[in-house]
Amino acid sequence: MNIPLLDLKAQYNSIRNEIQEAVSGVLESGHYVLGPNVKALEEEIAAYCGVKYGVGVANGTDALMLSLLTHGIGPGDEVITTPYTFFATAEVVSQLGATPVFVDIDARTYNLDVNQIEARITKRTKAIIPVHIFGQMADMDAVMAIARKHNLAVIEDACQAIGARYKGRMAGSIGNTGCFSFFPTKNLGGYGDGGMVVTNDEVVAEKIRVLRVHGSKPKYYHSMVGYNSRLDELQAAILRVKFRYIDEWNKRRAERADEYDRLFAGSEVGIPYAEQVNKHIYHLYIISSLKRDQIKAALAQEGIASAVYYPVPLHRQEVYQSLGYEEGSLPVAEKVARETLAIPLYPELTKKQQERIADIVLSAIS
Ligand SMILES: *Cc1c(COP(=O)(O)O)cnc(C)c1O
Repeated sequence: MNIPLLDLKAQYNSIRNEIQEAVSGVLESGHYVLGPNVKALEEEIAAYCGVKYGVGVANGTDALMLSLLTHGIGPGDEVITTPYTFFATAEVVSQLGATPVFVDIDARTYNLDVNQIEARITKRTKAIIPVHIFGQMADMDAVMAIARKHNLAVIEDACQAIGARYKGRMAGSIGNTGCFSFFPTKNLGGYGDGGMVVTNDEVVAEKIRVLRVHGSKPKYYHSMVGYNSRLDELQAAILRVKFRYIDEWNKRRAERADEYDRLFAGSEVGIPYAEQVNKHIYHLYIISSLKRDQIKAALAQEGIASAVYYPVPLHRQEVYQSLGYEEGSLPVAEKVARETLAIPLYPELTKKQQERIADIVLSAIS
C-alpha cells in the first residue's frame, strides 16, 4: 500500500463529472483566456475573503510580483520577509531590483517572528511580506501595527492559506493585497498554473488588471509596460468547481491533522502548533524530530511519501550568499529546516493509512 504526500487523482475521481462538464463548457464556448469564468472566480474568491476585488493572474509568483510593483517597490528598496518559505516569496523582490531582508521565525508557528521585524527596518524598507506558512496565518495585528507605524505596504503571501483565518479574518484580506496560488498541489489547485490578487484598494486592483495584459487599456493602447500574466478560462472553470468544496476539504484536512496529533501525543515527535486565534487549514502537516532523516528513510522503505519543506532557508541559499547571512544568523529557521518533515495529508486519507504512517514514524525513533 503506497501512500502519496497528496492524492490529486483521488480528488479528481470524486468530482470527475463536474470537472468534465466545466471543461467541455469552456471548450464549447470559444472563449479561452480572461473570460466569464475568470470574472466569476474573481468575484467568488473576493466575496469569500470579504474583500472588494479579485484579480486573476498567471500564478502565485506573479500575484506577489504585481502586488509589489503596484506598491512602487523597485531598485534600492528593502522588503522584509521570512527565510522559511518557498523561494518565490523572495525571488520577486530580487526580480524588481529590491533586496529581501530576512527576519527569523517563531519556533512554534514557523511564521515570521514579529518581535524581530522592527530591528531590521531601515530608511530603505518599503514593505513586509508575511507568509502564512503551511496554512496558518502570521500574527497580522502585529505586522499591521508595525507597517502603519513605519508607513510600509503589507503583501500577504497566502499561497498556502486560502480559507485560513486570524481572529475571524480571512487570509489575504488584511494586508494591502493578498496573494493566492492555484498550483495543483495547493489547497485550491487547478490542473495547471494560476493565481489571484485580492484587495480592497480599487486603484491597486485596476493597475494589476492593466499590468497583466501588457499594460494595455483599452486593448492595443499601452499606458505602461506590463506583463503577460493572464488566467485562462479552463483553469478558472476547474477552480470554480473545486472552490465549492474548499471549506469541506479544509475541514477534512483539519480532522486528519487532529487525528495525527492524537496518534503522536506523548511521543517525542513534534506536532504542528496552532495559535488559539488562528484557524489553520493544514496545507501541509509538518512533524519535527532530531531523527527527521531516519523517519524519512523508514517511511520511504514502506512506500510512504514524505518531503522536506524547506531544506535550505532562503538566507542560506547559494544565490543569496552576497547578502552576507552567515550560518547561525537566523538560528530558528536553520534548526527548523533540519528537523521538519511533511507527511501525507489530504482529504481522502483514511484513518487506517494514518495509523500505519504513525506506527512507522514512532518505531523509526524508538
Ligand atoms: C506556491 C507558492 C508560491 C508561488 O506560487 P506559484 O503559483 O507556484 O507561482 C509563493 N509563495 C508560497 C508560500 C507558495 O507556497
